[in-house]
Amino acid sequence: MTTTTSLTNPTAQPSRQVHRAQTREAARAVARLTPQAQNRRLTQTILDAASAKAAAAAQATTLAKAQLAEAELQAWLKDMDARLEVIFAHPEQNLGEIEEQLARLVKEPLRLLAQRAAQVKANAVPCRCPECHGELQQQRPLCRTLHSRFGPVTIWRRYGWCPRCGQWHFPADYALGLGRKAPASPYLQEISALLVSKMPAEQAVLIAERLGLDLSRCGLHQEAHRQGLKAQEWRAQFVGQLDTWEQIQQVASAAAQEPPAQPFALVIEIDAWDIRERDDWGKTKELRQQGKKPERWHWVYMATVFRLDHRGQTEGQRAVLTQRGYAATRLGVEALSAQLYREALARGLGQASLVLVIADGARWIWNLAKDRFPQARQRLDLFHAEEHLWAVAHDVYGHGTPEAQAWAAPLLQQIRDDQTVAVIASLAQLKPRLLEAQQKKVQTQIEYFEHNADRMKYKEVLEARKACEEGQATAEQKQLANHPVGSGAIESACRQYQCRFKRTGQFWTTPGDEALMCLETLWRNGRWDQLYPHARSSAALN
Ligand SMILES: [Zn+2]
Repeated sequence: MTTTTSLTNPTAQPSRQVHRAQTREAARAVARLTPQAQNRRLTQTILDAASAKAAAAAQATTLAKAQLAEAELQAWLKDMDARLEVIFAHPEQNLGEIEEQLARLVKEPLRLLAQRAAQVKANAVPCRCPECHGELQQQRPLCRTLHSRFGPVTIWRRYGWCPRCGQWHFPADYALGLGRKAPASPYLQEISALLVSKMPAEQAVLIAERLGLDLSRCGLHQEAHRQGLKAQEWRAQFVGQLDTWEQIQQVASAAAQEPPAQPFALVIEIDAWDIRERDDWGKTKELRQQGKKPERWHWVYMATVFRLDHRGQTEGQRAVLTQRGYAATRLGVEALSAQLYREALARGLGQASLVLVIADGARWIWNLAKDRFPQARQRLDLFHAEEHLWAVAHDVYGHGTPEAQAWAAPLLQQIRDDQTVAVIASLAQLKPRLLEAQQKKVQTQIEYFEHNADRMKYKEVLEARKACEEGQATAEQKQLANHPVGSGAIESACRQYQCRFKRTGQFWTTPGDEALMCLETLWRNGRWDQLYPHARSSAALN
């Protein structure tokens, strides 16, 4: 491939060979000197380096305008001409090559501008304690090099000691949005978070490289984790807004500022999936010897919440939700419950004319629903109800047999007709004719249906749908037909999370998976800009 990278680059460094040769030559020259002369030379070198540093600091800390010098602009234009000339000389190079070369062309001038603009910003920040706002003592400048969107940038910023807080502070770092020791600029913080919450770091690093971003696998991984912790902090604050009754009232009334044009139903779907973690890593043998099995699989609790009037259809008749909230956590049912409640409030819980909770039969879900959404209507996912009936049919009459089909068909219809009592009666009739092991299984299903009987109301929705198909639906039925009878929305959400968190060979730690899941949920909830305000400004400018 032909490249013009080093043609006219104004800041090109000497090649490594040249640099090594120069070093060798300098070493030989020093060896020829007397010991006293060598000492003097060493002292001079140290002094020179110190004064060069002081000069650089002085120049940087007085910079008041971010711009490119005339010579830099000229060199840039020359570089552009050279790159384009090469492309024009090669008929096989297409628009892709033009895009690639122009992107490389602008990187260095943009890097210089970014560095200078950040420097100007840093210079404008008063050297005061960000916590108590007192003037910092023993002020001095220190330089810091960061990875940015355009490559490494070096910034000089003043720092000092706060006697009141007993801490050294770098006020410009706060103003520039930089982590205390982390080397990534805010843009790269965001990109690390975005990439690693979507795919493993070893894949992300290749994509980042292709996009021209200078990130290492380890750097990406660490930065994403730091961002995940930041996301968790934000979430804790968001959820913590509901710690008192007054706060709950405040949040609810803020969400209700604009009364809904039409009454709407709020749907909440809840489910869980399991994740593999590395607990007791390396202690497997030891645990086995003690007769204990190492626990590796743990529950991730998830929920989704949406308004029914935010559900529409694509041209291809596929159902889509235009707005939708998520909650996901590895930290237990209580944590999910708090997150979900906050999310539901943000999505209109206080204004909804009907709240509908849909899930499979897990008891923790109904307990959560009763606790947080006592007014909500609960519905058992129709598919799960049918599955429980099929389990009996297959067990008693054989898997996939016509007998199983014949026995199940009328009962499936009874489920759809809200005749759960009849279903339970049929199961009870069946029981005495079975072997003991089968009786136990049937009893389990009887209890499942008894426990969920009040939640198995599908008839009016299914009838409304039929009426709509036949073009005879009343206005009320048109509304009802839209009500879900299944928990497909949460099941697909679980699957999507699992695509990232349940890959072959993956082992997580709780702090690791929770942090990344928190980022993923923040992104899905459309609150990314809470962590990355620059993302909001880029959307507004485009
Ligand atoms: Zn202070």
